[in-house]
Amino acid sequence: MQFRFYCPTRIFFGERCIENYSKELSALGRKALIVTGKNSSKRNGSLRDMVSALFKEGIQYNVFDEVEENPSLTAVYRAAEMARKMEAEFIIGIGGGSPMDAAKAAAVAATNDISQQDLMARKWTAPPLPIVAVPTTAGSGSEVTPYSVLTVEWEETKKSIAGDELFPAAALLDPRYTKNLPWDITINTAVDALSHSIEGFMNNRATVISDLLALESISIIGRVLKNINEENITMKHREDLLYASMLGGAVIAQTATGIIHALGYPFTYYKKLPHGLANGILMKASLQFFNQHSPGRVEQVVKAMGLNNLEEVGELLSKVMPKIELKLTSKEQEVFINKTMQAKNLANSPKKPGEKDIYEILKNSNLL
Ligand code: NAP
Ligand code: FE
Repeated sequence: MQFRFYCPTRIFFGERCIENYSKELSALGRKALIVTGKNSSKRNGSLRDMVSALFKEGIQYNVFDEVEENPSLTAVYRAAEMARKMEAEFIIGIGGGSPMDAAKAAAVAATNDISQQDLMARKWTAPPLPIVAVPTTAGSGSEVTPYSVLTVEWEETKKSIAGDELFPAAALLDPRYTKNLPWDITINTAVDALSHSIEGFMNNRATVISDLLALESISIIGRVLKNINEENITMKHREDLLYASMLGGAVIAQTATGIIHALGYPFTYYKKLPHGLANGILMKASLQFFNQHSPGRVEQVVKAMGLNNLEEVGELLSKVMPKIELKLTSKEQEVFINKTMQAKNLANSPKKPGEKDIYEILKNSNLL
């Protein structure tokens, strides 16, 4: 047996964890920049709780609240500029994956005077500011990963930067912030989390520990998705989803993502599909691809979801996910396949897909 497992993030889970563990913030400095999205953190209580914790600990703060979905480098650099001006000693990302990822990249750009190209090429030398992450969706798992996924205009796609120094110093997960998450975002983000655990399981970097976390997360998300609808979803379901999405983050922190994310990014960049939905529409056909090479592992995924075969996986996903009508033109098909073939995480697949395999996944997903 050989494995490596590294998770340096201090994880605090449960209602009122920001209030209960405010001392964790004190340990990081006296001045903080909060990086968040435009609206949701003001409505779900997360920003208010953070501000009162900072006040209680005597920490000065500013708020940068302009992070958009699929964060741009422009927003990252504006946040970094604000952090520098106020001499922030740490950065707090509050929101879904987008604000948490923008916070991580801003933490790098705040301490390194480098161009956007050099940031994406990982050419920073100074350590980033410490990062605190407060997720308000149950999806990205970014609160426990060493990745920041950003929109890269000059490459016309989304790309991630990675590094152990991008692991948040602390993650504070309070399920109450997800209470009023709209139904479509609840589902899309849950499917993203499921995708992390599946891609981390169908991965040649998977280890005994990442498998344990992945199967637990797949089984929780499978069970919740089978049982919830827009009317009957409870706080217990939401708590389970937040827990499972954190587990999914801990999985990809070890393995990275794979085919589904690689092929999903062009759907977000060119077709503006939400990240989780883009993964969801490719999931069944990607599992069919894996099934040709690793049927035993696919069977474990299906069983963990509490289902009997891949048909049932497809049926469950179509039942819960928002319906979309989407067909790629032949030109788009070529671009999407090209972009996917360039993604470095394809190499994590137990059998590296070729262009024909990607074509088959698109075709079997009814996207051609
Ligand atoms: P998101 O892009 O952060 O946010 C999506 C929407 O949800 C926004 O409109 C946001 O509003 C809203 N929202 C967030 N929390 C809410 C709440 N509690 N109640 C109501 N609305 C809320 O969504 P996400 O799916 O969490 O993150 C996706 C991003 O994460 C993608 O860019 C993806 O590539 C990235 N990702 C990163 C990793 C990683 O390891 N770093 C892993 C997977 C995915 P506001 O804008 O007003 O806040
Ligand atoms: Fe994701």
